[in-house]
Amino acid sequence: MGKKILFVASECSPFVKTGGLADVVGSLPQELNKNEKTDVRVILPLYQEIIANWHSQMELVTSIQVQVGWRNQEATIYQLVHQGIHYYFVGSDYYFERKGIYGYYDDGERFVFFCRAVIEALPVLDFQPDVLHAHDWQAGLAVAFAKISDPVKDMKTVFTIHNIKYQGIIPKDAYQELFNIPEEHIGGLEWNGLLNCMKSGIFHADKITTVSPSYAEEIQTPYYGEGLHPIFAERRNDLIGIINGVDLDEYNPMTDPHITSNYKYSRIKKKENKENLQEKLGLPIDSEKPMYVMITRLVEQKGLHLVQTILDEFLQEDVQFVLLGTGDDEFENFYFHAQQRNNQKLVSYLGFDEALARQIYAASDFFVMPSLFEPCGLSQLIALQYKSVPIVRETGGLKDTVIPFDETEETGNGFSFSNYNAHELLHILKYSLAIYHDPTRWSALLKNVNKSNFSWKDSASEYANLYQSLDGSFNKAY
Ligand code: ADP
Repeated sequence: MGKKILFVASECSPFVKTGGLADVVGSLPQELNKNEKTDVRVILPLYQEIIANWHSQMELVTSIQVQVGWRNQEATIYQLVHQGIHYYFVGSDYYFERKGIYGYYDDGERFVFFCRAVIEALPVLDFQPDVLHAHDWQAGLAVAFAKISDPVKDMKTVFTIHNIKYQGIIPKDAYQELFNIPEEHIGGLEWNGLLNCMKSGIFHADKITTVSPSYAEEIQTPYYGEGLHPIFAERRNDLIGIINGVDLDEYNPMTDPHITSNYKYSRIKKKENKENLQEKLGLPIDSEKPMYVMITRLVEQKGLHLVQTILDEFLQEDVQFVLLGTGDDEFENFYFHAQQRNNQKLVSYLGFDEALARQIYAASDFFVMPSLFEPCGLSQLIALQYKSVPIVRETGGLKDTVIPFDETEETGNGFSFSNYNAHELLHILKYSLAIYHDPTRWSALLKNVNKSNFSWKDSASEYANLYQSLDGSFNKAY
């Protein structure tokens, strides 16, 4: 029988998604479970949005009482099997029956509750994991509580850092009211005198992973470590970078129901998607016009300040630019007004729209992702699937997945620049345009794009090996 793994996470496609974490938690179990060595299940909060769309298919497992400070809160556990994967959901009227997922004043408390509920539910589930695999800060305390209270004999823990910037920090006086942890454990939960959920996960986990080899190196430095880099001095040997894969069935231009013309390599079909999108967004219809796009959370991490600095100048070129995103007001305002100034060339679609995202991937020639930092990045991998050429800054997973095009050797699947500098970005954008207009070089580049493959297969086998290694029986034969 396979090793039993329980993923603990705050989002998971297709139930709830705000970013790449959901893609990973949604697709990695599918790949792992193709192999009989693992039986992966997933536990998530039961948000209002999930209740609305999935509740009728769920089955009640049990209800438990969870102590959060002075409050005794009920956690109702449901289950559902979807596409062969077993999902559990932690329901709470008080914490999760709200609009949206994050952004509440008590997010810290909500995920303290979630993590406690997961650990306290373990003994009553019909699934006693060999490994609890927690993802990002929202699940960090599950690792800590597992280590402290030992709910399942010999259970090991893995903690994956998807983005170290978001740590789940709770003021000391607030968290002392949230749970009663014996004094000797407080040190493992705190960082600089505050409760830090991400640090708690890193500190307590048997193994720590992050989502690309380059990011695993970067987070050990002050520049990228977001204040947590000193922890890795002690945990360096337990930290591994495993690059994310893409769900090739989900993101497949051959079968994607959201796009007008399905294709594999055909540029003609791809251009049909471009014309369709141009029509939909009110841009001049011209399939030869190079189209640059971004699909992103509108936050500083994504290099939006660089784009802002040079956007008007770049739009002097004969190009079109489409941005789909939602996030900080600063950026929403900028891109809204930038469209007013450049309305035949730029469309800023401010919102979250999965179908439109697919149409943009399919229509585009270039995918722009000049991130300040990027743990892995899925968007550039999805872009490659849809034969859109990524233009990235050389950081984290972008550096590990996008190889700069070399005209002489005809190698590389995209364009990249090194320094966080707007004019380096402008330079590479203009260079990419020159390549677009050079048929020989453009087709050499597209050949390499067509060959790029970021399936989950290799990465899933690295996770499977990691799980095996936890009890000493390291097994290379996965
Ligand atoms: P992050 O997790 O930091 O947001 P990733 O590149 O890892 O970045 O993953 C982003 C995921 O979210 C991709 O699947 C991307 O297509 C999707 N996405 C981002 N913004 C939007 C949006 N506004 N509408 C639809 N999908 C989006």
